Amino acid sequence: MLLSLCLVLQAPATPQDPLAAERAVVTRIFERELADGRSYAILAGLLEAAPNRLSGSEGAARAVDWCRAEFERHGLDAVRLEKVMVPHWVRGEKNSLQRVGDAKPIPMLSLGGSVGTPQGPIEAEVVEIKSRDELAQLGERAKGKLLFFNQPMDPRQTSTFHAYGGAVWQRGSGAIEAAKVGALGAIVRSMTLDLDDFPHTGAMRYDEKLPKVPGVAISTLAAEALSRELAGGKAVRLRLELSCETLPDVESANVVAEIRGREKPDEVVVIGAHLDAWDASPGAHDDGAGCAQVIEALRVLRALDLKPRRTIRAVLFMNEENGLRGGQGYAKQHEHELEHHVFALETDRGGFAPRGIGAVPVMHAELAPLVGLMTPWGCGTLFDGDGGADISPMGPAGVPLGELLPEDSRYFDCHHSGRDTLAAVDQRELELGAAAVAATAFLVADYSGTWPRAKVETR
Ligand SMILES: [Zn+2]
Repeated sequence: MLLSLCLVLQAPATPQDPLAAERAVVTRIFERELADGRSYAILAGLLEAAPNRLSGSEGAARAVDWCRAEFERHGLDAVRLEKVMVPHWVRGEKNSLQRVGDAKPIPMLSLGGSVGTPQGPIEAEVVEIKSRDELAQLGERAKGKLLFFNQPMDPRQTSTFHAYGGAVWQRGSGAIEAAKVGALGAIVRSMTLDLDDFPHTGAMRYDEKLPKVPGVAISTLAAEALSRELAGGKAVRLRLELSCETLPDVESANVVAEIRGREKPDEVVVIGAHLDAWDASPGAHDDGAGCAQVIEALRVLRALDLKPRRTIRAVLFMNEENGLRGGQGYAKQHEHELEHHVFALETDRGGFAPRGIGAVPVMHAELAPLVGLMTPWGCGTLFDGDGGADISPMGPAGVPLGELLPEDSRYFDCHHSGRDTLAAVDQRELELGAAAVAATAFLVADYSGTWPRAKVETR
């Protein structure tokens, strides 16, 4: 209380700067984070404690415990676990793809949720398609074969997320499309703009009415090589062996902590990230970085003794990658209070230098001047956005959604692959993102006016 009074005295609103007090708070948050931030140490700690934390795994359980203890260390309010049941898919020991008669392994990862080959390896010829049109014109050509999806992400897109969005149908529904044309399995070019030998995994779906065939991703260099071979008119036979399988659901949890609001504690600003990660790497950018930023945002606000009008609630969601049970569970368990959730902000686009905040249009008039206060640190732009996957289940209740938007050129180089390690995260960029989350959450939670509700039909 004393501190915020001092602050107002130090930085009174003037006709020249009606947001002087808010500007002073934002400056304190960024300067403290850059001089004395803990986000990188938190990320390193999480990755060391739980380098493998796919939903349902022992590592995921360790990650839950580690994050709860970390919140508790920083003297936050209402630290708790909220239980959710999650799917438990395991990769297993034996996973290989190679040319028949050639022992050299093709860099591959089975896709999350894929069935294995319990009846023994599949050996079959490969048929390639490079677009949805080519898929539509396949006819009978892929029957009894392995269908190779080789549509690259479009490098002309200004947003790599849009490039990803245009290509990821191959990973998500490749096994369904393969089954429809009678193919024995789906081999998918990894979702990255880089040419390298790291395969990228990710979620895939089945249609319960169709046969379940295995789905795997191969590295982009392997995809290029395979494509060249096929273009030469040669029949290529591959051998695929997978021991992945889906086990019964496991009890897990979202990790929650708060800074209680000083005036309107029942009104809530959620800041969220996801705690689970694919098993190909420690998931440093996806989404260890987001978890570290969310924990650090509450820590730095507490360290500065900043007390917002409304409650800021951090939620580390479980199971974003292959089920979204944490996000769905949160919206269900908090159904009764969603009308008092004034904003939900997600950070799940990597720990790169932040460029701004994306938010639903209904918030822009009030939010843009506040986000603009972060301009000196390169992240003062308010973009159109509608949040990320974990907070999306709150949208139909009218909760305005938003997300941290970092520079995205390198995100898919790492995403869901062995390259997503701590070494790929820059400490200062991570800290800038943590400060942006803290500042945005504080400004929204401390706003003296009333935030509009988001109209569901705008989503
Ligand atoms: Zn993610």
